[in-house]
Amino acid sequence: MRRCNVCGRKRSSWQYATPEKLTCKRCERTWWKSFLRFLVKQRQLSATERLANRLGYMGTAFIMMSPYLLKYDDLGAYTYLIGALLSIPQVFLAKQWNLVVVNLNLLIGYGAYLINT
Ligand SMILES: [Zn+2]
Repeated sequence: MRRCNVCGRKRSSWQYATPEKLTCKRCERTWWKSFLRFLVKQRQLSATERLANRLGYMGTAFIMMSPYLLKYDDLGAYTYLIGALLSIPQVFLAKQWNLVVVNLNLLIGYGAYLINT
């Protein structure tokens, strides 16, 4: 017999999901929690999504260091372009269209900046 940490009742061990659990099955599975689980779609990332995520992190690093490199012979503008190019696949696959627009704006803006200088 163990005592549940939510309802406080003493229950035998088969009423717990695992031996380590402190909450009994009845308290774990309320209608609200099963509804929330119903809303969440469990899925694994595909290979392209994983690759795009890694590229996105690299692009973010390039974009982060760009403002500090701008004054060194416009090196920052090139890293801005590289960062935007690397970040676009991730935000495109995730359908985050606002960030796609931001990265395209970065490409156009710093592309024009490099052409004019
Ligand atoms: Zn309980």
